[in-house]
Amino acid sequence: MAGQAGRYRISDVVLKRIRSSLALKLILASAVPSAVVLLVGLGALVEHSRRIALTSPTMAFEELRDGAVVGTLLALTFAGMTVALAVRHFLIKPIQSLGQVMARAELGEFLVRARVSSEDELGKLSKSFNTMLSRVTDMAVTEIEAREELSLQAELKAVNEQLQAHVGEMELLLDVSKAISGTLDLPEQLQLLGKQICARLGVAEFSVMLVDEATHQLVVEAVAGDAPATVRGMRFHLGEGVAGEAAAKGQTIYVKDVDSDPRYLHYKGRAKTTGSFLAVPLRSKGRIVGVMNMNRRELDAFDARAVRLAEAIAAQAALAIANARLYQQTLELSFTDPLTGVANRRQLFLRLEQEFSRSVRFGDPLSLTMIDLDLFKHVNDRHGHTVGDGVLRGVALALRRNVRKIDIVARYGGEEFCIVLPRVGKPEAIEVAEKLRRAVAAAKLPGPDGGGPLSVTISIGVATLGIDADDVAGLIEKADQALYEAKREGRDRVAMAIPVQRASA
Ligand code: GH3
Ligand code: MG
Ligand code: MG
Repeated sequence: MAGQAGRYRISDVVLKRIRSSLALKLILASAVPSAVVLLVGLGALVEHSRRIALTSPTMAFEELRDGAVVGTLLALTFAGMTVALAVRHFLIKPIQSLGQVMARAELGEFLVRARVSSEDELGKLSKSFNTMLSRVTDMAVTEIEAREELSLQAELKAVNEQLQAHVGEMELLLDVSKAISGTLDLPEQLQLLGKQICARLGVAEFSVMLVDEATHQLVVEAVAGDAPATVRGMRFHLGEGVAGEAAAKGQTIYVKDVDSDPRYLHYKGRAKTTGSFLAVPLRSKGRIVGVMNMNRRELDAFDARAVRLAEAIAAQAALAIANARLYQQTLELSFTDPLTGVANRRQLFLRLEQEFSRSVRFGDPLSLTMIDLDLFKHVNDRHGHTVGDGVLRGVALALRRNVRKIDIVARYGGEEFCIVLPRVGKPEAIEVAEKLRRAVAAAKLPGPDGGGPLSVTISIGVATLGIDADDVAGLIEKADQALYEAKREGRDRVAMAIPVQRASA
């Protein structure tokens, strides 16, 4: 058994050698058939010569010699043919097939594989080539995956950056609207707006112009950043300069370079600047209420996105401004007398309390005048209530025109007015009252249609804090008493209250 196993093993080894060696295969495939043919031919020749040798040895020798030559030539020819066939089968064909596969792989077809039909050197070469190809395929797949991952990462990064920019813009918008909606005080609102925009939008100079309803001009109401405070209060006609054009057209106007655009006026020469400029109209309920101006020091520094953001901020700002104005108007309405435009009783008492506290705290004098139109009933009776109203308006105007800004003119009742005179002592208050009396008497008040102007007189009572009374109620009472005295004494005159000490005396 062991011998058999040994014999098998030897044949296995030999077979393996033959299978794994191209040279052996070629030798065997060409030499074996040639040798067989040569041996058969030689055998036949020898047999033929042997038969001839029985009759003629010389002829047999010649036959043998010629036969050997011819046989050798034939055998060599056959051997050549078998060698050629073997080379073609074992070498050329597999090399050609391998070459084709290599050529396809060279063109990038990494999924092709060489045919492995033997275990010889060519077979091994094909196998190695296939292994190499599968490695290349793996590498290509890894590279594609890596590239895909890279491009995905880049895409994600870009999306992320975009999102972050959006979030930043939203935050800014939210902060701006929070800041400016947090107060109903218009100047404070505009200041906050400017501060936020300069700090968060990289704006060097900022200003807000609002339309003055009376003159239809743009007035610089607030500045921020490097914009000089001296431009505050400046007026521009609609259509004048870039901001004026933005307001007139109701369109955002962008100037890439302020130095090369003649429309940009540099605040009429008062604030020379460089860079790019953006004027965004502030629109509320379809009306242009102002313009928001922004300057960046760099040329062409506002892209479409920055413009959109500025417009969104402007929309918020316009809303807040409109709210603040509405609030201001409501506030003013609730504190003013609708007929005459002077302070109403509510505001009178509020301001009187304030001035009283100030006077007590700082020891400043405070006087009050109580005014009543003389025989006003006659005006109404003769000309009607409407004319009477006009006369009341005229008297209020005359009173306002003849006092200081800090004095408070109020309508106390029907045809009674009250004037608070802060930091004014008694002698001075009497002088003021006399001046007022004369001014009203001289005033030409609107009369009935077709008729001439009217004139009226007033009676005035004057009281001073600390002299005539010690509190607000007492001060009013004393002024009222003095007024009654002026009426009693014949009207069209000023009467002063009787001081406390004298009254008690
Ligand atoms: P006296 O000199 O004593 O003050 O006489 P007078 O006629 O002014 O008398 P009084 O002050 O009592 O009269 C007030 C008149 O003022 C009565 C009323 O018709 C008129 N009046 C009050 N409020 C208004 C108003 O809002 N419009 C108009 N047209 N008249 C008013
Ligand atoms: Mg009267
Ligand atoms: Mg009266």
